[in-house]
Amino acid sequence: MPTIPHYDVIIVGAGPVGLLLSCELRLAHCSVLVLEQASDPHSPLKQAPFGIRGLNIPSLEALQRRGLLDAVTAPSHSAPSASRPHWMQQARQPGGHFAGMPFFQDQIDTARWPYRLPSPASESMPTTMERLESVLAQRAAELGVEVRRGVRVTDVVQSPDGVQVQAGDAQLQSRWLVGCDGGRSPVRKAAGFEFAGTEPEFSGYSVEAELENSAALTPGRHYTATGMYTFQPPGTIAMVDFDGGAFHGSSPITAEHVQTVLRRVSGTDTRIQSLRIATTWTDRARQATRYRKGRVLLAGDAAHIHSPLGGQGLNLGIGDAMNLGWKLAATLRGDAPEGLLDSYTAERHPVGAQVLDWSRAQVALMRPSPATRALAHIVRALVDTRDGATYFADRVWGATLRYDLGDPHPLVGRSAPDFALTDGSTLASHLQTGCGLLLDFDNTAALRGLAMRWTDRLRYIASSASDELGLKSLLIRPDGIVAWVGDGVAPYQHISQAIQRWFGPAQ
Ligand SMILES: Cc1cc2nc3c(=O)[nH]c(=O)nc-3n(C[C@H](O)[C@H](O)[C@H](O)COP(=O)(O)OP(=O)(O)OC[C@H]3O[C@@H](n4cnc5c(N)ncnc54)[C@H](O)[C@@H]3O)c2cc1C
Repeated sequence: MPTIPHYDVIIVGAGPVGLLLSCELRLAHCSVLVLEQASDPHSPLKQAPFGIRGLNIPSLEALQRRGLLDAVTAPSHSAPSASRPHWMQQARQPGGHFAGMPFFQDQIDTARWPYRLPSPASESMPTTMERLESVLAQRAAELGVEVRRGVRVTDVVQSPDGVQVQAGDAQLQSRWLVGCDGGRSPVRKAAGFEFAGTEPEFSGYSVEAELENSAALTPGRHYTATGMYTFQPPGTIAMVDFDGGAFHGSSPITAEHVQTVLRRVSGTDTRIQSLRIATTWTDRARQATRYRKGRVLLAGDAAHIHSPLGGQGLNLGIGDAMNLGWKLAATLRGDAPEGLLDSYTAERHPVGAQVLDWSRAQVALMRPSPATRALAHIVRALVDTRDGATYFADRVWGATLRYDLGDPHPLVGRSAPDFALTDGSTLASHLQTGCGLLLDFDNTAALRGLAMRWTDRLRYIASSASDELGLKSLLIRPDGIVAWVGDGVAPYQHISQAIQRWFGPAQ
């Protein structure tokens, strides 16, 4: 007798990606269980300074569109300034960095991003993992997501109808399963996903320690003949040791080992008296060749890993969750148009591949050879120009990220501008329910009538806006991506086809 799935979706991993995805699915009324191996969601590594994460524009927009932005980035909850990384504490306001080379806000020419309107999500902002996870966990609880902590998933077996999950002693059933279980993803391994990429060149260290003779270390970032280190008094150190990634994961981190590496990399005789916090990472860069295998999907670090340089991994995972949630929900409801779920891989895989290359390019500029240092000097000069700063801000902030949806209009495939509507609201506030939107600046009877045929999936808004960017109407997906733009002359059936392409057949 066939077993009956208990949940629409089981998500493995209650990190930021798993929690956000669970909220997206619950918004669409799916039943969701999240399984998390850690009993305690708190960790010193999730707090400042090591838990600080830079959120890029697409991530901030995602949080804004779900009404969570203020809670995640409120000043009292984001990183206290004293514990922010050294590069964030400069006299000029930095916008981010590339291989440690900062670019500055005063050089960024945002006028080159014509489809961006003023918004609270208009530039990168910091938060901590602790804050982000606690806001998402609270939201998930409010929406009715069931989260079970202290439960480790060890196996996943799928059939044509569902997925069976071994979680501790329990066997659980669901119709779909999403592995949001981090870089070592047991789900990815159990389901047999191919994970292709490149091996590491270094072991990275993040350490908070009691130091003796710390005066020998100069605060800030330093490239040396053997690697790179940053020092923030009194005892916060990050190091990159070009050992081919040999140390990472090979043995426990001891004060003696950190001291040996610090002396080799910094060339000083600073002594480590004791370690308060220590963790390692590498620049291994791998990506699942596809994000879906039957009824099992991957999102976040489970789908792609790379060095934390430039801070993109979390942003990539937030983008995965926003892209996947509504597509999986439509598939579960049964109204997903042909190919919708597979557009998740088609849209997100190229974005992930770009980020992996972005992180590899930074490693190439950090190698401790004279030739690399010479090249880095040239790149630094380019970063420090208006063109350079604008280019790097665009890439690091994700300002003009665009999916290729096959429509040549430059706005289609991009995040919808945050139009200021005449009633004082902005577009973002109308996306909180997770529905798609048909925004009609001209209040046309034809569009209103058309939208009526999809009212369960699509909201129609007729309003003018203070700056309409020369447009007449827009079709916006639940993830905030523009799916179609009306210029007032496109035939009526074009918009109808676009709605069917993304939202399926009419009711
Ligand atoms: C030092 C450092 C700095 C970084 N800085 C930035 C930054 O500035 N910006 C940025 O965008 N990214 C940054 N990142 C990357 C970012 O932290 C990760 O990409 C992000 O945390 C990934 O989220 P996730 O939810 O996919 O995975 P995780 O946060 O790893 O969560 C996975 C969860 O799955 C659980 N799990 C694993 N296995 C199982 C199992 N078998 N059963 C049940 N549960 C399981 C884990 O316990 C964990 O809670 C940085 C990373 C590091 C190390």
